[in-house]
Amino acid sequence: RAKESGRNAFRFWDTEMNASVVEHVELLSAMRAALAHRDFTLSYQPQFDLRTGRLIGAEALIRWRHAELGQISPARFIPLAERSGLIVPIGDWVLQEACTQAQRWRAAGWTDLTISVNVSPVQFKRGSVETSVAQALAESGLPSGNLELELTESLLIQDSLSLIESLASLRRLGVRFAIDDFGTGYSNLAYLKRFEVERLKIDQTFVRRLTDDVQDQAIVRAIVQMAASLNLFTVAEGVEDGATLALLGDLGCQQGQGFHWSPAVPAAEFEKFLAA
Ligand code: C2E
Ligand code: MG
Ligand code: MG
Ligand code: MG
Repeated sequence: RAKESGRNAFRFWDTEMNASVVEHVELLSAMRAALAHRDFTLSYQPQFDLRTGRLIGAEALIRWRHAELGQISPARFIPLAERSGLIVPIGDWVLQEACTQAQRWRAAGWTDLTISVNVSPVQFKRGSVETSVAQALAESGLPSGNLELELTESLLIQDSLSLIESLASLRRLGVRFAIDDFGTGYSNLAYLKRFEVERLKIDQTFVRRLTDDVQDQAIVRAIVQMAASLNLFTVAEGVEDGATLALLGDLGCQQGQGFHWSPAVPAAEFEKFLAA
């Protein structure tokens, strides 16, 4: 675009930058209002055991429908919520809502369903995740063993004392950990020794073209083998078709989620997976 506008390139970029600042400020105040008015909702994406086909859990994913702007993707507003610190109260709401929903499903008989909640590094830095989790569990009545926190490699790579203490106290509570988007972050895997993690979620970028990309196959195979020798489960993200599913099984991956089964859906719709 800069090329097309030629000599006006600078002016063009300037205008675009200003527009994006205004947009960010507007989005930020809209997000504050959404939090106050409880306009966020959670959708749930089912996770399956690849071998048995059994439903094992759900990932809670935040959704936001803005009155004028329509549906706004978390990929767009979560980074802004992180930069502004608003992710702390939003994250507290997500924990509370996800635990409450999971406890309803438990009460209806699905006692071994795991609910996975994404937690941002900023929540650890600027909030107290232990306190938020303890409160969400206490208020919902959900047993801690039914809750999994999805952490990022960028969080675990830090070795701050307060992080180590937070994670240790969450473990003592009985909460489990998964590493989200595994393989995209860092090559230093020392954190796998330091923290007790239960599952590695293989990032979708390695899964998307799996059936025709031998390099992706090599990467997934390596992740699965390493995970197995560390006694960790692997979950493939972004499984979109049966061929990918079959290949993942051959590679030794145990669990998966993706459009092949279902996108994230509202709680009421998720119940059809429970009924099945
Ligand atoms: P994520 O945690 O890695 O979640 C997976 C994303 O992939 C979700 O996008 C999901 O809808 C999408 N997805 C699932 N299956 C497929 C598939 O088969 N194909 C494709 N192409 N995509 C698939 P979503 O819901 O837009 O969320 C994007 C990211 O936003 C999440 O990535 C997560 O990092 C963040 N996020 C979402 N909800 C929350 C939340 O409550 N708290 C925090 N801190 N972050 C959240
Ligand atoms: Mg996730
Ligand atoms: Mg992910
Ligand atoms: Mg992601």
